Amino acid sequence: MAGKKILIIEDEKDICDLMAFHLKKEGFSVEQLFDGETAWRRLQKNHPDLIVLDLMLPGMNGLELCRLIREQKQTTSIPIIMVTAKSEDVDKVIGLELGADDYITKPFNPRELVARVRAVLRRTRTDMGDTKKIFTDGDLTIDYEAYTVYRNNKPLSLSSTELKLLFFLTTHPNRVYSRDQLLDAIWGDETFVEPRTVDVHISRLRAAIEEDKDNPKRIQTVRGIGYKYVLANGTHPPA
Ligand code: CA
Repeated sequence: MAGKKILIIEDEKDICDLMAFHLKKEGFSVEQLFDGETAWRRLQKNHPDLIVLDLMLPGMNGLELCRLIREQKQTTSIPIIMVTAKSEDVDKVIGLELGADDYITKPFNPRELVARVRAVLRRTRTDMGDTKKIFTDGDLTIDYEAYTVYRNNKPLSLSSTELKLLFFLTTHPNRVYSRDQLLDAIWGDETFVEPRTVDVHISRLRAAIEEDKDNPKRIQTVRGIGYKYVLANGTHPPA
């Protein structure tokens, strides 16, 4: 889990610094922002693995930002931990309804924050494997439960790593992932796996699922960043 990118959005600088200090100490990579508008603009560029979001912010507040994040397809599956003050219990409930994954009440023990961050990240990872729905996109069908991929109703022969990679990309469609993020998501804590390994598996997947593997429409390369699965005319299970 070390190296996961955490974005903290909190206008009280000392609290923000305190949270950042403890998360960095645990090996997370931390970015700090102090208002909702800046954070929203920042989220249009690339995505952290988790957001710690304070409820009371100047300008756009935490609830509004949470709602925007959940409404936009590209940001909808980013886990959010909402930070609230004691007197904001009602808002806390609304925060969960709007799609926060967890919340923490001020004042909190930084260890509790770290524990919750870990728990939410773990849970998000497991959710991917628990997806029960069937994915379809043109001639491609994925049965996540049966661990099988069909093209034109014929089962494809893919390695378990390729299956995991395809499951991950299709359950997070239209989002760009760097090689490092994919390594982290699919290979987890296995070290000594080179980023180039990702390219090899992507190329094998393309050969299996693309009309023309040299001109891929589904698994697209985003130059200088990584890969994304582009949903053409399909449906996908909610993340
Ligand atoms: Ca605040």
